[in-house]
Amino acid sequence: MQVTFFGVRGSTPCHGDSVARYGGNTSCVAVHVPGQGPLFFDLGTGARDLGAGQPQDGSFRGTCLLSHLHWDHTQGLPFFSPLHAEGAELDVYAPAQDDGRTVAEVIGQVIRPPLFPIVVDQLPGKVRFHDTADSEFMIGNVKVMARMVPHVGPTLGYRLEWQGHSVAYLSDHQQPHDGSFSVSEGARELAEGVDLLIHDSQYTSHEFATKNTWGHCTIDYAMWVAEHCHVRTLALFHHDPTRTDAMLDEVRESAVVKGESAGFAVLTAFEGLTVDVG
Ligand SMILES: [Zn+2]
Ligand SMILES: [Zn+2]
Repeated sequence: MQVTFFGVRGSTPCHGDSVARYGGNTSCVAVHVPGQGPLFFDLGTGARDLGAGQPQDGSFRGTCLLSHLHWDHTQGLPFFSPLHAEGAELDVYAPAQDDGRTVAEVIGQVIRPPLFPIVVDQLPGKVRFHDTADSEFMIGNVKVMARMVPHVGPTLGYRLEWQGHSVAYLSDHQQPHDGSFSVSEGARELAEGVDLLIHDSQYTSHEFATKNTWGHCTIDYAMWVAEHCHVRTLALFHHDPTRTDAMLDEVRESAVVKGESAGFAVLTAFEGLTVDVG
């Protein structure tokens, strides 16, 4: 199982010398499993680079597990170039909404004129949306667990298992508003004992103090979840757009030491990073 990061940034893409090493694209992470089509988390702006390496001739077949519908996780959809060819097919699993609308309806109200030149159905490739709640299902040989997790609006985290190896993805995860450390039952089920936990790490404690209802968590909270849920490796992810490369280097240095003493490894996710799981 190979995990490759195409977009690691939260909230909005960013650009410039100060963020060039970790990268400025928003959430998109591919999971490669031998013998089956591409499987990936989220359609942030990183999806453009993921798409560029996929078949462009209409033969593309793949699956996206979408955490939620915020812009930074969906903006890359129309720029995913395999869909620019007739015959391509993309299945998108996404959290069922709580206002009576289907995911396809919500996306259709955002990706449309005058906000965007075309609607999704005008892409030559076919996109199928699957409204998803807490569930388990198979994508090829990969077992998928989906659980609603605390954020702002309906949001899914995912756990993938393949041949005894496991990856969990909790890109946007609301820490308790008072800054304390506890985890929902669903989030714990996703993360418990995984080989690789890809987890929100948007804020410092100082930033969280004024943004404690914005749907995210601190780096320290991500570390606590990793320790509490006995993960082998934590990938700090969904970096705040204000977090420079130099700041992320500092975050990594301190987190690696803390992780070592707590019994797990820590990575600070960057664009182009590939992790072999298992
Ligand atoms: Zn996000
Ligand atoms: Zn979000």
